[in-house]
Amino acid sequence: MSLSTILGEIAQEMAARTDRGQVADYIPQLAAVDPDQFGISVCLADGTQQSAGDSATPFSIQSISKVFALALALGRLGDQLWSRVRREPSGLAFNSILQLESEQGIPRNPFVNAGAIVTTDAALGQRPPKEYLAELLTFLRSAAGDEDIHIDRAVARSETETGHRNFALAHFLKAHGNLTNPPELTLGAYFHQCAIAMSVEQLARAGRFLAGLQHLIARERVRRINALMLTCGHYDASGDFAFRVGLPGKSGVGGGILAIAPGKASIAVWSPGLTQQGNSRLGTEALELLTRRTGWSIFG
Ligand code: GLU
Repeated sequence: MSLSTILGEIAQEMAARTDRGQVADYIPQLAAVDPDQFGISVCLADGTQQSAGDSATPFSIQSISKVFALALALGRLGDQLWSRVRREPSGLAFNSILQLESEQGIPRNPFVNAGAIVTTDAALGQRPPKEYLAELLTFLRSAAGDEDIHIDRAVARSETETGHRNFALAHFLKAHGNLTNPPELTLGAYFHQCAIAMSVEQLARAGRFLAGLQHLIARERVRRINALMLTCGHYDASGDFAFRVGLPGKSGVGGGILAIAPGKASIAVWSPGLTQQGNSRLGTEALELLTRRTGWSIFG
């Protein structure tokens, strides 16, 4: 069966689902998103791209941005980053503060919020947030081969207004000496990167470097980012995602997931309804069907 047939079938199956999960409602811009949308896009090693559903509709990439921030932070700091953030699954919710106290302000991994705030702080360095965000957008646009990728300012504003837990995390990190910038500055960068809007078509293209289909960063770093996506990319549901889908993946509360089949494909999927753990419900199901039908699971 061809990939375009598989994707078309998956989009059809997802359109018929009524159990779509709950859209994120902590900010009005996400609460207002129509839950009946679904899009999927796949970039292959031969340079082709196949898509189905609402694949050209931009959505808030939210925590998927943490993957790209990590790539930039590693480029800037190299392995020194690992003295500030660990590489273990947290087994806790994305915004949990629990472990930070008992683990002396060193977050478990770069994908929980605390770890992403440290990673963003490292990627930011001593520059104004504007300069870092411009670098991030340039990276995304060149990876996706598309200039039309922007920050949704209204989302960034709402994130700032409602981000009390993230402020708590950032101040806690600062108290432990694990933030080089003032908390407001690092969080300004963090909230704006979460507010980047992309379609699954753009996101699948932007993920090609992680699948080894485009050379943007050292292979060694690609391997490490994929390892972290596999073990930590879905918060306290990371084990379940590996079990069901069998690919490195990173989710965001906007309902997007970027998944990587090393050497084979970069896959982006989007459906705004979330599970309790904050991962796209139908997005995960669609990826499970896709890996079952293509045999792309890294576990054989
Ligand atoms: N902006 C969200 C937060 O920091 C991102 C969470 C997510 O996408 O998982 O709370």
